[in-house]
Amino acid sequence: MSIGHRLEDWELSETSLYDLYHALGANDTPYLFGEPIQLDTDHDWPAAGGMSIDRRTVYIDRTLYQEVMDGACRASGLSGQQLVHAFIHHERVETAIVMGDNPIDQYVPAHRRALAAEHEVYRIFGVDPVKVEKVIWPFLVACYKRPIKKPPLDAWCGVYHDDPGAEEERILGELIGHGVIDARKRSKYELSYGIRAHRCDGCRNADRKLYHQGPVFGCIIASGTVREDRTCDLWLPADEPGQGVEDRGDKLAQSTVDYTDRGHAPELCKKCVHWAAEATCEIVKGPIAADGWCRLFHK
Ligand code: SF4
Ligand code: SF4
Repeated sequence: MSIGHRLEDWELSETSLYDLYHALGANDTPYLFGEPIQLDTDHDWPAAGGMSIDRRTVYIDRTLYQEVMDGACRASGLSGQQLVHAFIHHERVETAIVMGDNPIDQYVPAHRRALAAEHEVYRIFGVDPVKVEKVIWPFLVACYKRPIKKPPLDAWCGVYHDDPGAEEERILGELIGHGVIDARKRSKYELSYGIRAHRCDGCRNADRKLYHQGPVFGCIIASGTVREDRTCDLWLPADEPGQGVEDRGDKLAQSTVDYTDRGHAPELCKKCVHWAAEATCEIVKGPIAADGWCRLFHK
């Protein structure tokens, strides 16, 4: 979920059910949607709701969950259980669309469709979604403002990466400090992720230890999961180590990955998989110090 795009007129009226089911029904997307999940209400999550990278856990911010279940949003006309049901449905739809084989690969368009799905649930319960949104809005805003003490370390951070602003950057910085793995990574928008020449399944940055199920797996650079037939600006050949290092005009700027030449021992550039000889890095613009560091460090 996200508080950034809920109450605008176009959100409440212009994302059609056709848009939703065109994506949710495509290829393997409905199978991903149908996978079993568990609900976790023991963590802080500024975006109110979220999901683990492996799609097995839906996170509802623990304070929000308690407030909703205690009846704080009863003016919406819905019980706490009904609201939580709708929140869970939103997260399942959103991540199934982002991971599935359909035209949507990023957070924002997936969120629009998930919001349409959430609003359908409200209508099924006999309540106007606009009324619900107005009641729950202050509680969602409060999630963004609360201190983050215990975030889920395996949460997908696309909500902050793909729709960035000053507040999202602040939250990502806090999540990195807590050790949330996905917070260190880069937005698929920034990497121009999509279908082009090359494939993720032939890329050295694929991370099948993080997650792997059929054509979907992890990546040490891109947020969330990637699909075997997609690619991005930072593709590197898996079978030719050392190739693709020179003359890349599309490397990341140092400022976008918090590069410093002072290092974060024991995480040092010279120990990173992307370190290349002569003050270069495979994916970040140089010069790069051997004892430097950036948030894409990977051993
Ligand atoms: S770096 Fe890019 S091409 Fe390589 S696996 Fe990740 S998303 Fe795919
Ligand atoms: S830690 Fe250093 S070598 Fe590794 S990706 Fe960042 S800049 Fe490149």
